[in-house]
Amino acid sequence: MKIKTVVLAIACLMGSSWVQAAEQPHVTIYATGGTIAGASKSNIDSTDYKAGSLGVDKLIQAVPEIKQFADVSGVQIANVGSPDVNQKTLLSMTKAINKDLAKPSTHGVVVTHGTDTLEETAFFLDMTVNSDKPVVIVGAMRPATAISADGAMNLYDAVKLASVDAAKGRGAMVAMNDRISPAYYVTKTNTHAVETFAAPEQGYIGGFISGQPYFYYADTKPINKPHFDITNVTTLPKVVILYSYQDQSGELLKDAIKDGAKGIVIAGTGDGSTPSWIQDTIKQAMKDGIPVVVASRVPTGYVSTHENAIGSGFYNPQKSKIILELALAKGEKIPQIRHYFAQL
Ligand code: ASP
Repeated sequence: MKIKTVVLAIACLMGSSWVQAAEQPHVTIYATGGTIAGASKSNIDSTDYKAGSLGVDKLIQAVPEIKQFADVSGVQIANVGSPDVNQKTLLSMTKAINKDLAKPSTHGVVVTHGTDTLEETAFFLDMTVNSDKPVVIVGAMRPATAISADGAMNLYDAVKLASVDAAKGRGAMVAMNDRISPAYYVTKTNTHAVETFAAPEQGYIGGFISGQPYFYYADTKPINKPHFDITNVTTLPKVVILYSYQDQSGELLKDAIKDGAKGIVIAGTGDGSTPSWIQDTIKQAMKDGIPVVVASRVPTGYVSTHENAIGSGFYNPQKSKIILELALAKGEKIPQIRHYFAQL
């Protein structure tokens, strides 16, 4: 009793900031590496730096302003360039995030990530997180050591977004360059520009002004977005992406199947088209129960249902691969798998 009185007296003496700090929303930052944690010897270098050089504590220390509105903690999941993020990382991180978000004390989570495969992780989380709480994925195009590095402001915005109630029920979101994109539709559109993440057809769902998030719409979900429970999934079946072009031979397709691929995605030309001379191989794969999804190497648009293969709908090749992996992990076969892709 006496101790409680003393604590309360100290709190009063320290003013309301102490009491407020205890009430701030908790946001966990899951760090995986990337340019946001990258460092270079030269402060004008934005190509030759080492991605994943700084740990999560350093990222948090670099933006002390976050502590004014959120109580943050960091978890180092990996510290790699994002081409090295793999299904093992995705599965273990998603499971950790699901546990974290189930705690009443966690308001939201932020994932720091390299931008090269950021859209894949964002898409995966969007379909596998079992919570309506905010999940925000963030990266940077310039390493932390660069003049005008974009990572610190992006991280501030991401944590702010994960700490507001208005961000609930919107699925996973990508916060980059003062914009909020839906993880379901976002893609990387430029190799170097800071203005790289966009959903060219569907648009941004909001943005930030002076670090304050705003939304254009009330909370909303993409039509037909599936959800996969990965609680008991320990590994994802092998799915391979092949690229189509004039003179594409069917050899790599045959090799992929021989090599044990359980599903194939082809980044086809135009509306998912592929050369006539590989049709028999595609047909045979489908007959053998190996789903072949034809997506497109064209950046935007819909891929319609194909006679020999599954048209990817609005999913690009890398997103089609993730849907296919998750459906195959559930034990689903071609007829059920078709439904994920047929959206019209
Ligand atoms: N190569 C880096 C990565 O994806 C690029 C970045 O983070 O922007 O990790």
